[in-house]
Amino acid sequence: MAVYQHDVLIIGAGLAGMRAAIAAQLEGADVAIISKVHPVRSHSNAAQGGINAALGEDDSWEEHAFDTVKGSDYLGDQDAIEVLCREAGPALIELERMGVIFHREESGRLGSRSFGGASKARTYFVGDITGQAILHVLYEQLIKHGLRVYEEWFVTDLIVEDAVCKGAVAMEIRTGNVHVIAAKSTIIATGGLGRMYEPSTNALICTGDGISLAYRIGAPIIDMEMVQFHPTTLKGSGVLITEGARSEGGYLLNSEGERFMSKYAPNMMELASRDVVSRAEQTEINEGRGVDGCVLLDLRHLGEERVRERLWQIREIGIDFAGVDLVKEPIPVRPGVHYIMGGVKTDIDGKTPLEGLYAAGEAACVSVHGANRLGANSLLDTVVFGRRSGVATAERARSVMGWTPPSDRYAEETKRKLQAFLDRPLNGDRVAKIRLDMGNMMSELVGVFRTEEQLRLAVERMKDIRARYEKVGVENKGKVFNTDLLFAIELGFMIDCAEMTCVSAVARKESRGAHYRTDFPQRDDANFLKHIACTYSPEGPQLSEMPVTITRWQPQERKY
Ligand SMILES: Cc1cc2nc3c(=O)[nH]c(=O)nc-3n(C[C@H](O)[C@H](O)[C@H](O)COP(=O)(O)OP(=O)(O)OC[C@H]3O[C@@H](n4cnc5c(N)ncnc54)[C@H](O)[C@@H]3O)c2cc1C
Repeated sequence: MAVYQHDVLIIGAGLAGMRAAIAAQLEGADVAIISKVHPVRSHSNAAQGGINAALGEDDSWEEHAFDTVKGSDYLGDQDAIEVLCREAGPALIELERMGVIFHREESGRLGSRSFGGASKARTYFVGDITGQAILHVLYEQLIKHGLRVYEEWFVTDLIVEDAVCKGAVAMEIRTGNVHVIAAKSTIIATGGLGRMYEPSTNALICTGDGISLAYRIGAPIIDMEMVQFHPTTLKGSGVLITEGARSEGGYLLNSEGERFMSKYAPNMMELASRDVVSRAEQTEINEGRGVDGCVLLDLRHLGEERVRERLWQIREIGIDFAGVDLVKEPIPVRPGVHYIMGGVKTDIDGKTPLEGLYAAGEAACVSVHGANRLGANSLLDTVVFGRRSGVATAERARSVMGWTPPSDRYAEETKRKLQAFLDRPLNGDRVAKIRLDMGNMMSELVGVFRTEEQLRLAVERMKDIRARYEKVGVENKGKVFNTDLLFAIELGFMIDCAEMTCVSAVARKESRGAHYRTDFPQRDDANFLKHIACTYSPEGPQLSEMPVTITRWQPQERKY
């Protein structure tokens, strides 16, 4: 069987993976990119509202950095935040030159909007389809550069020999054949894990694969308790209504018709950071001022023309998924799971502590988002740290001496493992049922507000979920497009991630950013100004601590 071999293997063809691939190839490396879906179906496609950069004359990278540090509730690593914000302007201009048609004002200058937690209007956008616009342009660049794409291949394992990552084992979904893809450097760019909760704004494919793959070979995973709840997800389905709706002037109302954000964030109102707005909404709902488990987002005053120009996609989403035309009626929204601030620990060049392994994008945690990500900083994170990791991996590939590729035996091991799964008898339980039970449990017990009792119960429930997972069978025993089997493997990845989230959340006995403990309602810098790291053990995640890097912004009280 073939052993494929490259200098740099990038797992994931979303914005982070594609940006990394282009950078590594421009540095002269032989690069391949692998994706379980067609690249333009990657979840970056769903990004709506925009991408941040301090390009305005009245703005500066330092102000952007301070807003990001404050947004992170001081858990973000400030060296990385400085890189993110310094490189934002050039990254955005570069995207424009590649062909992204950002919104322009009548004057012809790039037009921006204000996003939550930002002191200036520095979010650049393409209507409410910014991710799609950028993803398609990067895909064009990928084709232009003639990059090798393993399209609809699914990575099941990473290969590690003598504490060095040497590539991955992947299944070609069309045939079910399993191959070793050897690489001197491997980048995890597999995106987020939102579907470990139900409902979620994330697509079904966001199952934390890369975070779990890295964890299983010993890479540290940090900040996993920091799960972002977006304040405006649609009633029922949980589909996202972009923050752009509030930045264009949308109000949040409770059942009494009150703009309740005046009580919680009198200065920034609806544009306070996401954790603050989500908690405010949940408080209104919990105290009986909700509307059928939601609050209302009112956009009627914007008028049809502005909505048609800037928010057409969310208007369609409201009509299709909730039967509400936001031009005519307020739209019911509630906090919903959206983003993971944590992930595979990296430095500012995407390097993990494990030789040969890098990570970028939502799967990584260089910790620019800390305890709470500011809206429109994630697309920026993907392109800035995607590019940097591409450059770094190409450099590593050049410098590695006497490299021997791993043998085919890793593919054989994976085949045996998959066959053992297929050979399990059906026992009446189903992968989809376990996944749904886990998602509902996570939403119920590891939500916007958390307590020790709930979190410990979640840890116990995860043991039951894992025990069920270890016995469940898959119905489809075939090789060709066996999505049953893939769904089962994805559930295993999600279980690893959910366990890390639960145990880290128990350990953080304070409230910071998105992690709000009603039993410890204050931020506690003396004991918890640190990252919580998980490393793999057969008994479950082992916890340790890592320091937070402070460069110039000392922790202060956070008010909006
Ligand atoms: C609805 C929505 C709207 C958003 N809007 C914004 C916004 O306006 N601004 C902003 O900054 N951020 C936004 N975000 C967040 C942002 O879109 C994401 O964080 C970002 O796009 C993630 O990009 P990525 O490249 O890391 O991963 P993704 O785009 O998710 O790509 C992951 C890739 O990994 C591949 N992959 C995964 N597992 C495997 C495997 N096992 N084998 C092979 N391939 C695999 C997938 O096929 C895919 O190609 C939004 C998020 C959501 C959910």
